[in-house]
This record gives sequence, C-alpha cells and structure tokens, in this order.
Amino acid sequence: MHNNSSASFDKIAALIVAAGRGTRVGSGDTPKQYRLLHGKMVLTQTLLCFQDFPTICVVIHPDDQNLFDQCLQALPKGFPPVQSVIGGATRSLSVAAGLDYLQNSTPKYVLIHDAARPFLKSRTIQNVLDGLENHQACVPCLPITDAVKTRDGTAVDRSSIVKVQTPQGFHFAAIHNAFAKRDAEKDYADDIEIAKEFGLSITMCDGDPMNSKLTFAADFDQNTPMISVTGSGYDVHRICEGKTLWLGGVEIEAGFSLLGHSDADVALHAITDAVLGAIAEGDIGDHFPPSDDQWKNARSDVFLKHAIDLTKQKSAMLDHVDVTIICEQPKIKPHREAIRQTLSDLCKLPLSRISVKATTTEKLGFTGRGEGISASAVVSVRIPQGTPS
Ligand code: MG
Repeated sequence: MHNNSSASFDKIAALIVAAGRGTRVGSGDTPKQYRLLHGKMVLTQTLLCFQDFPTICVVIHPDDQNLFDQCLQALPKGFPPVQSVIGGATRSLSVAAGLDYLQNSTPKYVLIHDAARPFLKSRTIQNVLDGLENHQACVPCLPITDAVKTRDGTAVDRSSIVKVQTPQGFHFAAIHNAFAKRDAEKDYADDIEIAKEFGLSITMCDGDPMNSKLTFAADFDQNTPMISVTGSGYDVHRICEGKTLWLGGVEIEAGFSLLGHSDADVALHAITDAVLGAIAEGDIGDHFPPSDDQWKNARSDVFLKHAIDLTKQKSAMLDHVDVTIICEQPKIKPHREAIRQTLSDLCKLPLSRISVKATTTEKLGFTGRGEGISASAVVSVRIPQGTPS
C-alpha cells in the first residue's frame, strides 16, 4: 500500500459482499468466494487486498459460517480484525446490513467490494480514494474496447458506456443515508445505482482489467497456475510370425507381427506410459494387468485414451508427444504421416504437437537382429500447481 496514504486509512472501512451463492460457477456446492484459487480461498485473497484497512466487515450468508471461519484462519498473523454480519436475500439487503453494522465505527469513507474480485491492486483502491476527495461516490471503470451492439444488431456508441468494477467508494454517511431511503423491495444492480437515485455526486476513476470478477468455472481454470511436467515411456515387443503389426494405432503390412497380450502396439504403449509418468500414475501394467483376460487382444488406443482421461481428471492438459520407434523393419517413413494423424486424433492435439521419429540400431542388439521392436516416448503435460497426489 502507498506509504503516504496509510494514515488516512484510519477513517476508511472496507465492506466485502460475500453473501451470494455463486451458482454460475457450476459444479460443486461451495460458493465461489470460498473456492480455492492458487491454493487459497478466493475470499481470503480478497481480504488480503485490504490488509491496511483498520475496519473490515464481510457480509456472509448464514450457511457459510464454517467456510468463513476457515477463510479467516488462513489470514496471516497480525491481520487486522475482520468483522462479519449476516446478509440478506439480495445484494442491496446485504450491503444495507453491512452499512448498518459499520455505523458503530463511524467511518468517513466506505469501500464496498465484491468478494469474487481477488485481484484488486492498491493502485485501484487509491484511485477510488482520490475520487472521494471531491465527490461523494467514486466508481472504478474500464472503457469498452470491443464493438458493442444491441441484440437486434444495432450499433451502440461504445464511447458512451463503460464497464463498472468494485470497490465502489462512498462518503459513509451519504451512502448509509441513501440506503435507508431506498425502495427495500427493489434489487439494485450495484451500490452506485442507489447513490445515483439519491443524488450523491459521483465520479469515475480508472479501473484495472486485472480486477476481474470470478463468475464462471472457466474464470477459475484460467486463473489456476499450471506447471509443465514431462513423462517418459519405453516399451519392447518381440517379433513373431504373422502378416501385420500395429504401430502408433496404424496397422502395417510387414510380413510379421509383434507378440503381446494386447495388440502389442509398442509405440502406443510407450506413449501411454509417458502420459502416466507425467501425472505420476504408475505404469500401463498397473492399469491394464496382462493377467487380466479382458485386455487380451485389446486395441491399445484404449490404454492411451484411459491415460489421457486420467490427465483430464486432474485438470491437466497433454501438450506434446514425441515418440521414437526403433527397428530395422518395417520402414516407418511411409507410415509416419498416418501414425501422426492417428495420434493427433487420439490425443486431440494438432499435428504440430505430434512427432514420430524412427531409427535403427545399425543391426546391433535385439532390434538390429530383428528379434523385437522398441519404442521410446516423451510427452509434455501442463498440470495445476499443487495437484494432490
Ligand atoms: Mg507393451
């Protein structure tokens, strides 16, 4: 926080509105303000934005008391005391409850902020406070950069409209008074609307594009830090009599086959093990034991799809596959593009993220003597930081 402004915070209260249910985030019963983001509850992170404020009040839902207690426990030692008050069925009822509560501490200014905006910077807080020097209300806004149209396609002059953020700042007595006079039946979109209805002087200040409101599940996904991990896999299958063999999900007429419990697709097995390795989920034998008859003659794409499903369950993403097939015969080059395309379909990755290479061992070793074929694979995966094991 700005050193030159800390003293003035004495007369400023932060009112965090956290009583909503956050249903648009989707699956899960936990309201969005209590969901984890970067390993911390959203509300905990929002509170940290106000660590220089001596008076902080959070409006909570009556069902959320336990979650709120957990959120407070995660605050650092020495954090200013955080008060709480039970909110109402609408946002304005909740804010009204908070303002009534804060009346006892007689703040000069109040900053009313959405619990689901944890990326608030001190610069924006300062912009709002600066605006309150000459106005009774100040709201951080952003210009609209995209073209704006009504639903029937009529162009709207975007220079006349702005996006409105929080914290919205007010002279406490003026906004408390306006709330007391408002139509309690009406649900106002935000607090500035009430300020406008009751004639407070309002100014706008610069908002921050980073100060976005977490609304949808995708907002959480986008804000989850990912780390890049690597997995490697290796496999060998013995050459046996036959006409065709499977390599990388493609059936190739080689004049011989590969021996195995499944279709013996050595390349897909190496890739599957690499994917399992990246997410530390054991190896292919753990998931598909050769002793289990249901995998007899199984097509190996089943194994790879399973490994990819496991990555998805961990909210991880396969980014790149590089496989090397080691054999004298068959020649891989004529089949390379078919294998890449098959892997691209299986892994749901563009061809540019699928590399298939081949080498011989100069007639040395078991691959050189034509006794077997081996494959080695490396994959890159992005996985959320702090994924539990
Ligand atoms: Mg194998």
